[in-house]
Amino acid sequence: MNKKSLTLIGLGPMGQAMVNTYLDNGYSVTVWNRTAAKAEPLVARGAVLAPTVEEALAANELVVLSLTDYDAVYAVLEPAVGSLSGKAIANLTSDTPEKAREAAAWAAKHGAKHLTGGVQVPPPLIGKPGSSTYYSGPKDVFDAHEEALKVLTEVDHRGEDAGLAAMYYQAQMTIFWTSMLSFYQALALGQANGVTAQDMLPYAKMQFAMMPHFLDLYAQHVDRGSYPGDVDRLAMGAASIDHVTHTHADAGVNTTLLDAVSAIFHAGMDKGFAENSFSSLIEILKKQAG
Ligand code: NDP
Repeated sequence: MNKKSLTLIGLGPMGQAMVNTYLDNGYSVTVWNRTAAKAEPLVARGAVLAPTVEEALAANELVVLSLTDYDAVYAVLEPAVGSLSGKAIANLTSDTPEKAREAAAWAAKHGAKHLTGGVQVPPPLIGKPGSSTYYSGPKDVFDAHEEALKVLTEVDHRGEDAGLAAMYYQAQMTIFWTSMLSFYQALALGQANGVTAQDMLPYAKMQFAMMPHFLDLYAQHVDRGSYPGDVDRLAMGAASIDHVTHTHADAGVNTTLLDAVSAIFHAGMDKGFAENSFSSLIEILKKQAG
């Protein structure tokens, strides 16, 4: 089998960027997509459009999946399970760790190996330096296909558990979505005061640039399970988040996000953490015993 050869199923923006990157790097790529027309520009560049999923699977040992979610994975692969035996599936589809574990067991039942992948960058950064993807699943399968996977992004194998890559990915997306909403919240406050997003931008960037300092400090608190209030006290933080929330309410801005944040601060206060650092809020957020 040609080493620089693979099958890629799913031609949304991400799958298309991946196929283009493989073609740029001299790979033979067989593609399949539910909406076959999306393959046309790729076929014009040298990709081969398989007429059926079975033929797409038969073409190569390595099969990269880039689908919306794992329901789409089963919708595509269930009718073709007879062609899965011996395949290495690099499933770069986003979903939950539990779904990834189920899919790995499902693939094994049909004689295929499953690597879970969590791509950390948007389509334009595929094939560009500095991009990265979390992988998890059998290390020998990862090692066997690392060279091909590294064409897309840098790779970071997090462990054998199929769910791990999805967990890291969803943890990262937790930070991304909530941080971006905090940015929009600040912009909404600016707008209500006649300040444009462009005017707010340098100050927002300054705030984000300061965040690594806080991450370093508070990660130590969380791992130690001790939250000394020597630099900040939760009581101060709770008063501050009230000032923030009231500022937005007074400006007529939606406070749904801030009300949720405020509720967590006040749950910490109710637990008696007033004199601890606000890192003590991990005690509210974390999985509770029992
Ligand atoms: P899209 O949802 O735009 O497209 C994914 C593909 O899934 C399409 O080829 C679509 O086929 C196919 N699909 C969806 N449902 C079905 C179904 N029921 N049966 C058959 N095929 C189906 O996703 P993206 O390309 O943007 O992303 C792919 C994956 O990468 C996602 O899991 C996403 O979360 C992840 N990701 C995306 C990023 C991004 O910025 N786009 C960034 C990082 C990760 P059809 O063309 O026929 O509709």
